[in-house]
Amino acid sequence: MTYDALELSLGDWQLLFTNWGDAKFRAGQVCQWIYAKKVFNYHDMSNLSKDLRNKLSENILMTLPIMIKQQSSRDGTRKFLWQLHDGNRIESVLLNHGDHKTACISSQAGCPLACTFCETGANGFHRNLTRGEILGQFLLMEKMNGADINNIVFMGMGEPLLNEDNVFAAIRSLNDKHMRNLGARHITISTSGIVPGIEDLADFEIPLRLSLSLHATNDELRSKLMPVNNKYPLQKVVNALKHYRERTGERITIEYALIDRVNDSVEYAYEMAALLDGLEPYINLIPFNPIPSRPELKRASDKSVKEFCRALTSLNIEFELRRERGGDIMAACGQLAGSLAS
Ligand code: SAH
Ligand code: SF4
Repeated sequence: MTYDALELSLGDWQLLFTNWGDAKFRAGQVCQWIYAKKVFNYHDMSNLSKDLRNKLSENILMTLPIMIKQQSSRDGTRKFLWQLHDGNRIESVLLNHGDHKTACISSQAGCPLACTFCETGANGFHRNLTRGEILGQFLLMEKMNGADINNIVFMGMGEPLLNEDNVFAAIRSLNDKHMRNLGARHITISTSGIVPGIEDLADFEIPLRLSLSLHATNDELRSKLMPVNNKYPLQKVVNALKHYRERTGERITIEYALIDRVNDSVEYAYEMAALLDGLEPYINLIPFNPIPSRPELKRASDKSVKEFCRALTSLNIEFELRRERGGDIMAACGQLAGSLAS
C-alpha cells in the first residue's frame, strides 16, 4: 500500500513512525515542515536523519496539484488553475484585502447540483477531491503567497457537503495544532443546503463558520434556480440551520446574489424576513457575476439593489452589500469553470 503525505492525519504519521521503529515525535516534525514551512521535499527536512529522509522519499508520496496557470486581477485577486494526477482541473482563488487574505478553494472537480446561475454547475460533475487535493490547493497558495493565509472558505468549485468525509478530514488537518493550526473561526463552509450535511456539521468537533447559498426565498423560485431545493426544500434547510445555530451558538451567513428581475424585487426581502425569522442570520448580498453559459442572466440594477437594501433595513435585518472581487478574470463567486478560459 502506498501512502501519500497530504492524505495522512497526525495519528497516521505517528503510527507510521512507530511501525518503522522511529520516535513518535518525528510525526510532528514532518508535519511542521509540510504545514508550517511548506517544505514538500523530504530531502530538505534538515532535522531528520539522512536515512529517515531517504526512507520517507522511498515510501511516502508527496502528490501536489500542478499549477497550470495563474492570473491576477486589478484588485489583487489571484486565480489558480491546477491539474490533478488524473487530468482533472480545478481552480482556487486568493482574495486580498490588505493584510486580510482568504483562500477560496474547491471541494469537487465540477459540481453535480447544476444551479442555473453558476458556471461550475454548468460544466457538470467529475469527481470528489481527496483530503490531500483539498489541502494541496491551500498549501501551495500559501507557499506562493510567501506568507500564511489566515482564512479559508469552501466557496470554489463543488458542494463541500456532498464530499463530507474528505472535506472534514482536510479541515482536521488544517485545524490540528501540530499541522496547520488554523483556528476554527477562520474556516467557512458554504453549502447549497444539503440537510444531512448541515446536521453532521452541527455535531462536528470543530466549530466552523457556515454559509447558506439562499438566492431565492420560496420553494417555487428556488427549485428553478437551484434544483437541489427539490430534494431539500427551504423549510427543512432552515430547520437544519436553526439546529446548527442552537447546537454551536454560531451565527449563520446567508448568501444572496441579486439577479436582475429574477430575485431582486422587494417582495423577496419581505419573504426572506419571514423565512429566516428566529435564525438571526447575517445576510451577504453579493453582486450576481455574469457567466458565459447563461448570458440572459444579468446583475440587478443599482435601483433595485438600493430598494432591496432599504427593505431589509426596514425589517431590521442585518446585511452587508458585497463588492465584486476578481470579476475581470472570472475569479468571482460562481465563475470557476476549471479551464481558466477567460
Ligand atoms: N456549492 C457551494 C459552494 C460553492 S459556490 C454553494 O453553492 O454554496 C460559492 C458561492 O457562489 C455560492 O454562494 C454560490 O451560490 C455563489 N454563486 C454561484 N454562481 C454565482 C454567480 N454567477 N454570481 C454570484 N454568486 C454565485
Ligand atoms: Fe454547485 Fe454551489 Fe455552483 Fe450550485 S452554486 S452548482 S451547489 S458550486
